[in-house]
Amino acid sequence: MAERLAGKAVADAMKTELAQKVEAIKAKGITPKLGIIRVGARPDDLFYEGGAKKTCDSIGMAYQVFEYPADIEQAAFEKAVMEVGADKEINGILMFAPLPKQLDEKKIRSLIPVEKDVDCMTIGSAAKVYTDDPTGFPPCTPTACMDILKFYNISLKGKKAVVLGRSQVVGKPVAMLLLREHATVTICHSRTDNLPAVCADADILIAAVGRAKMVKANFVRPGQVVIDVGINEDPDNPGKYCGDVDYAEVEPIVEKITPVPGGVGSVTTVVLCKQTIQACEMQNGLV
Ligand code: NDP
Repeated sequence: MAERLAGKAVADAMKTELAQKVEAIKAKGITPKLGIIRVGARPDDLFYEGGAKKTCDSIGMAYQVFEYPADIEQAAFEKAVMEVGADKEINGILMFAPLPKQLDEKKIRSLIPVEKDVDCMTIGSAAKVYTDDPTGFPPCTPTACMDILKFYNISLKGKKAVVLGRSQVVGKPVAMLLLREHATVTICHSRTDNLPAVCADADILIAAVGRAKMVKANFVRPGQVVIDVGINEDPDNPGKYCGDVDYAEVEPIVEKITPVPGGVGSVTTVVLCKQTIQACEMQNGLV
């Protein structure tokens, strides 16, 4: 039976540390603040926003939601995003994407100041992540994967890490962060030959494909650590969600595994707050 790498334990430990940090920053007369930019009211966005607000509250951080109608036009939205970006009280910005089709998302993303870009929406942040510049914030999910590995003392140096998925938001940045920790990294995608064998060769397997229960018993081997990033509707349990890993098949084989729900997703909003606090410290010369 595998060790269950629960996200809650990681999130709780991080929140305790962050609450202390926020208190120390508040003692200097500054309150770290997250700005949430949302266009329309998609259920997924509202769900994530609810989690982010709850996490902010639990550690004493401030937040403000900037909500715009789903049919907002480009010029008006550009102006709004620039105003949020210029707001001196806002240290970090979360903007929900994708934006509605009438908006030029690439242009809008570029309006977020890099120093407030705590979820890596801009090319400037991506460049920093890919050049190992510690002042650039990776997207929150890859950071959450790394925080889980760190919390459970899983060493990466010299280990074979396989990342299943090459998206800008998960696969590629998590590969960069694994490299930073001296893992030997392979990135797989939909055209990878012999995918199960490549995955089974890993010491650490990060699954970020967006396909429910795709990682089966033949993708893994004993001794592996499996981090499941997937959030998918569970085809076998309507109304519930599941990961990219078939937990029932894989868990009896591997050494350690994150559950879904209760794994990576539980840590993501805490990372959002952590990166906003770091941004606040940098903006105020506190580091
Ligand atoms: P994308 O759809 O952007 O990327 C999926 C990647 O998986 C692509 O690189 C794609 O390859 C690859 N892929 C798809 N099908 C296959 C296949 N059959 N075999 C091999 N590779 C395949 O997804 P995201 O990266 O945005 O998200 C991945 C998962 O993580 C989703 O379930 C999403 O819901 C979840 N997620 C979870 C978060 C969290 O906080 N826990 C946050 C963000 C995402 P190719 O490039 O060749 O098309």
